Amino acid sequence: MSSQSARTPIADILVIDDTPENLALLSQMLTERGYKVRSVTKGSTGLRGAIAAPPNIILLDVKMPQMNGYEVCQKLKENERTRDIPVIFISALGDVLDKVKAFQVGGVDYITKPFQVEEVLARLQTHLTICKLQNQLQAQNTKLQQEMKERVAAEEKFAKAVRSCPNPIAIATLKEGRFVDTNNSFLLMSGYTQAEIIGNTIANIHLESAITTYADIVQRSQEKGFVHNQEFQFSTKYGEIKTVLLSVELIELAGTPCTLSIMNDITEHKRLENEFISLVSHELRTPMTSMMGALDLLGSGQLGTLTEQGQQVLNIGIKNTERLIRLVNDILDLERMKSGKITMQQIEYDIIKLLHHAIETMQPMAEKARVNLNLEIIDNDFVNLRIDPDRILQTLTNLLSNAIKFSEPNQTVYLRTNKQSDWLHISVEDSGRGIPSNKLQTIFDRFQQVDASDSRQKGGTGLGLAICRHIIEQHDGKIWVESILGQGSTFHINLPLQSVNRDRL
Ligand code: ADP
Repeated sequence: MSSQSARTPIADILVIDDTPENLALLSQMLTERGYKVRSVTKGSTGLRGAIAAPPNIILLDVKMPQMNGYEVCQKLKENERTRDIPVIFISALGDVLDKVKAFQVGGVDYITKPFQVEEVLARLQTHLTICKLQNQLQAQNTKLQQEMKERVAAEEKFAKAVRSCPNPIAIATLKEGRFVDTNNSFLLMSGYTQAEIIGNTIANIHLESAITTYADIVQRSQEKGFVHNQEFQFSTKYGEIKTVLLSVELIELAGTPCTLSIMNDITEHKRLENEFISLVSHELRTPMTSMMGALDLLGSGQLGTLTEQGQQVLNIGIKNTERLIRLVNDILDLERMKSGKITMQQIEYDIIKLLHHAIETMQPMAEKARVNLNLEIIDNDFVNLRIDPDRILQTLTNLLSNAIKFSEPNQTVYLRTNKQSDWLHISVEDSGRGIPSNKLQTIFDRFQQVDASDSRQKGGTGLGLAICRHIIEQHDGKIWVESILGQGSTFHINLPLQSVNRDRL
């Protein structure tokens, strides 16, 4: 066995020719070039052989007794197993080859005897390559069709999931925030019909209050690829304020980048929670006030002198009762502010006087903690702002109290103010332990602390910053914090200057 025939054959070729010399010649020529050759002398035998084991290509003599080449080719093309095998006709020089008929019955080419080796090989090679490319194309086509089928099925599944999901879902274009699709739950919650929503943007379906927060959420989802369970408020068609936990994922719909917003309506949950907190707080306030009275009476000595140990126990009782009263008062304060039961009593007030007042109020606490308090008025230009002085003082003392609480002895807390175009900017800076970046937003929410033990150890309630934020927002201002862990924090407040009377006092 030659080394060539031991290799995997280039292709399997069936030669059908009634002239044995031709068969021998072709067979030898092709075998030497690495092809596997099967040769038969009768058309019917060739047909059976091709059906039983389809070759890669068939060389078919035109002129044969019983069944001629055209007939064989026709039969090959009728059979599913042999239909796609390329057929090259062989004709002798003296024979009349009906080329049109040869192509009509499905032949791809013809060669004439006597054979020129290079020509036969070149033609074979060409048709094998075409055949191979056709097969590849076919495979790719099938794969593509399969992928398209899978894609359509996935899209249908996605659409079904969106439609039947009990959570409100909306899909909007990323660029303009234009609604592309919503589900029924979203329509029910928002009060709008599909026709009113689709094609409109958040801005023009009157969800103005939501635009800034939504833009912020979209920006964050662009940075991270998603945003999960972000509290978000918007007004329905009928003006009802809904609170939802919003999760935003970025998706592509028909080549357009979109946001997929999945909501969890927690309006009722929030209302019940607020109602519960306020109810409990109201119920706690009266007994706690009388407890405090009783402890004060004990401490006054009117009921007899306490031993030193008794006094110590009494002090613990007083300290914790005071903390509970502070907590209940803060809860009620926040709840009343949120429900609009407390409005800001805004008057023209000298902000510099207020800053001095804040420092004086906090001085005893700072001294006790051995922390320095420093007031820096960068623009020495006294301004009157339209504010509720008591509430702004409450905000400043709260920030100063936190700054002192989280500072080490001998560190300095700075209260600064300066004017920045449309804003009066106030900052409270400390060099304490700092706040981790993932808490910079959440600490302004109710009962959110960096460390669960903060309120216990530092005597806070976890409500101070939530109250501050509410007060500042009621003044159309902004409050935020910047911090480097281990190096300190700076709380910033911007109050609008528009309504400011710039007269000097
Ligand atoms: P609290 O009454 O517990 O101080 P706040 O709402 O005022 O409640 O503050 C919430 C939490 O934010 C605090 O418990 C603390 O974890 C963190 N925090 C506030 N101010 C500072 C600060 N200046 N430095 C470090 N952490 C702070």
